Amino acid sequence: MGGAAGVAGVAAGETGVDDLPTTIRTTRDRIRRAAERAGRDPRRVRLAAATKGVDAGRVLEAIRAGLTICGENRWQEARAKMDAVGDHAGVTWHFFGRLQRRKLRHLVGRFDLIHSVESLEQAEEIHRRAREQGMVQSILLEVNVGGESSKGGFRPDEAPDAAAAMDSFEHVAVRGLMTLPPGQPDPERSRPSFRQLKALADRLAAMPLRRVRMDELSMGMSNDFEIAVEEGATLVRVGTALFGARPPVSTAG
Ligand SMILES: *Cc1c(COP(=O)(O)O)cnc(C)c1O
Repeated sequence: MGGAAGVAGVAAGETGVDDLPTTIRTTRDRIRRAAERAGRDPRRVRLAAATKGVDAGRVLEAIRAGLTICGENRWQEARAKMDAVGDHAGVTWHFFGRLQRRKLRHLVGRFDLIHSVESLEQAEEIHRRAREQGMVQSILLEVNVGGESSKGGFRPDEAPDAAAAMDSFEHVAVRGLMTLPPGQPDPERSRPSFRQLKALADRLAAMPLRRVRMDELSMGMSNDFEIAVEEGATLVRVGTALFGARPPVSTAG
């Protein structure tokens, strides 16, 4: 960014006007410091913006300010936004909403990474669709570490067998795990869930699997991403801390 634009950005922030370049920079600084506190390489942690409820114009502003990963929750919203935003070098789209079987075909091949695969059946369907397209779809397995009945995801004890079954899917690349712990007002209360996810990933990484990898841990949101980074996150999914509070939206689809 040029000097003049930078100065204008700081001035806007100081007057309380929304300033995406500043919030993105601040968030990246917080990620970097959390990584350093834990003795981790900050370059191993990527910021995935949760752009649900954020219009295409602001997403474009965020991309101009250096955002590289847009994460969406619903196919209809994502499709409209991807069309409006267009292609930008180095920018990829991730999907982390609840997966619905009849929408899966739209997602395969369009999202760089699907974080929210919560059953072997979903992985099978992704494999089938990816094979039709002659491509390999990268996915993460969502794990319900908190054991909440309201949430989807693999139980930790189911994950090893599921990963072993997926190891034969040539058109699916399992890249790691994702979790969505209970929203906690006190971010420290998310730490045990993040630790459990990391321990499970280590266990899966030690299994004799050929295709399944455990390179990515998607965990941490606006209120607890620093804790997640301390515990090993490689992808943090941050919405509110970047874009401010959003109107209530459905997260399914
Ligand atoms: C919305 C959302 C986020 C980001 O939540 P914030 O609290 O706004 O940072 C992260 N992950 C998923 C799956 C989401 O739906």
